[in-house]
Parts: sequence; structure tokens; C-alpha cells
Amino acid sequence: MTVVIVLSDTIDQTQLDRIIDLAATAGSDLRVHNGLVLSASGNRDTIASALASEPGVLDVSSIPAPYVLASSQAKLGSLSTVAVDGCHIGPDAFSVIAGPCSVESGEQLLEVAAAVRDAGCHALRGGAYKPRSSPYAFQGLGREGLELLVEAKAMTGLPVVTEILDVRDIEVVAESADMIQVGARNMQNFTLLRELGRLRQPVLLKRGLSATVEETLLAAEYVLEGGNDQLVLCERGIRTFESSYRFTLDVGAVVVLKERTHLPVIVDPSHAAGETSRVIPLALAAAAAGADGIIVESHHDPATALCDGKQALPVTRLTELMTRLHPATAAAGRTMQPSGASQRRLRVLKGAPVGAFPVAAAQFADN
Ligand code: PEP
Ligand code: MN
Repeated sequence: MTVVIVLSDTIDQTQLDRIIDLAATAGSDLRVHNGLVLSASGNRDTIASALASEPGVLDVSSIPAPYVLASSQAKLGSLSTVAVDGCHIGPDAFSVIAGPCSVESGEQLLEVAAAVRDAGCHALRGGAYKPRSSPYAFQGLGREGLELLVEAKAMTGLPVVTEILDVRDIEVVAESADMIQVGARNMQNFTLLRELGRLRQPVLLKRGLSATVEETLLAAEYVLEGGNDQLVLCERGIRTFESSYRFTLDVGAVVVLKERTHLPVIVDPSHAAGETSRVIPLALAAAAAGADGIIVESHHDPATALCDGKQALPVTRLTELMTRLHPATAAAGRTMQPSGASQRRLRVLKGAPVGAFPVAAAQFADN
């Protein structure tokens, strides 16, 4: 058992020192994670009776797992929202990130991005660096792909999500992306996670192909421990004995994650589905199960896609996806986030800054 001690944000150094001393006297090995969350080994009741009435202590609870900052207890049950430029991923509203598996060309990306915006989705995805099983497969356009994503953002005003593969690319990816995706194959790349923990930029952490929920939360802990709390988790299907589809979408994990962590949880129905026909049903299942959003692959011409064309939702079906998500989110007691477009219009009308691309956003306001 790990004991989590949550402190008040008005605690002073003398009070903190006293708590640390008392915990040591109670025989527990105390760790300071950030200013306001401590963890300790040992018995919760013993630690609680030593500390509970101390000024500055808000809560002492125990969890059966070794992660601390990712636990619901660390935030006393309140849920986190991560702002990705204008897109707010969290419990208040359901978010949809859509776009191609890979950035293939300017024409392809801009065509898909326009459709993603027009369908009312909230953010654009697109891989510039692709983790491919075969070294002979298309590996992504790299830096050129990042530049195209910046262009697509300028055109649509949509925030951009893209994957990082290599810790050496952290600066260039962070410059171009509003949210940095850690793919399933890198979930336990601890060096990369630690480096992302040093940023203050949103990170999307996908569950590994064979990672348990606890391992996923411990991977999240690496990012949080560095001080970056702008973190969203993603269930994208796991390897099981079932071979009828690409991966088994673990909807149960969404429910369990929502119990155990304050972090937003989204679902990638595309990589689990493996085939276009299954994408919308799995997206609906995710919404009904209480996910905070989805990240979905879409293409204007799936037959010619350089990567994951079989599972790409044609852009012509994005509106259907959005329409059908409404009742599914309602079933979970949620609403859809207003479209990226209407949020930007509102900001323009209010005369507020519209982000890095005022010209594009202002043009969009005229649509
Ligand atoms: C992707 O999002 O295109 C991707 C490679 O996902 P995953 O890491 O979940 O396989
Ligand atoms: Mn893909």
C-alpha cells in the first residue's frame, strides 16, 4: 500500500518540516513529490493518526498501487482538464481529435484538415514521425511533416497533435505541436517520458500494446513527476488471444482508469478496429463508457493512404461520427464540446486574441 498525503496550498515551510518529522517518527519513509503531495510507505491509520490534525494536511489516504501523482487521491477526487490550445480535454465535455494516421503531403493534410474543421471536430492529428513495424514501410515526412501541420493549423485554427518517437526530436516537435503524442510502442520509454515531464506542454500518453492499467499509470507518473501535469491518457486496444480485429479495445480499462486517476482518458477506436466499418461503433462505446474524448484516423482517400488506410474513416463520414456521438455522450451524462469553429468565432467576436494565427482565425470567423 502507498499512503498519499495531500497538503493545503497555504502550507508554510515550518508546517511542512513538522509533518516530515512526525512522519519519520511514525516510522514511515516519506517522499515529497511536488509541493503539495507526499507519499509514504507504511500503515495508513498510523500515519493518519500522527498527521491528520496537523495544520496544512488536507487528506491521508491509501492506494493499493505505487503511483501517487496520477492517483485520484492526489487531487482529492477532483478531475483534471488539459487545455490544448482552444480544445479542453476533460470531464466537462467530450473532445474529438481527428486526422490522418500520417502526414503524407500538403494537399492530403490540408484537405483532411479542412474536413476535420468543417465536421466540428476539436483538434487535428497527423503523424510526422511514424513508428512502423517494418523498416521498409513509410516512416513519415519528419520535419517537413511538422511544417505541414503548422500550415494546417494556420488554415483551420485547429490545435495539432503529433507523435514523438525520439527524445532527440523533442524541441522541434514541441515547437510545432500543441500536444505531443507518445505512441503505444513508447509507453515505457522512460527517458522520453522524463524529458516530456520537463516540458509544460500537453502530452498524450497511449497505453502500451500489452501494458496493464497499473503500468500505464506508472508511465504517467514519470511525466507528472517531472512537473508536467498537462497529461491525457489514451486507451487504444491491447493484444489478446482474439485475432478477429487488430487490437482488443479495453473499454473496461476506461472505466477503471476513471476510477483511479484524475487524468483525462480518451480512446483511439481506429487502431483497435483495424477496419473502417468498426470505427464508429467503437467510438460510440468509448463515449458511452465515459471516456473524455476520442482520437480517430480519417483520410480523404483511404485507398491511397500510406499508412493505416484500412482503418481510416473517410472524411465524408466525419459528420456522421459527430452526430452519432451526441446521444452516446449523453448516455454517459456528458455533452460534446462546442466545435473548434464556434469556439474560435466566439473568441473573434469577443475581440480576444485568437492564438498564433489571427489571420486564419479571422478568415474563419467569416465562414
Ligand atoms: C498512431 O496514432 O498512428 C499510432 C501509431 O498509434 P499507436 O501508438 O496507438 O499504435
Ligand atoms: Mn495509425
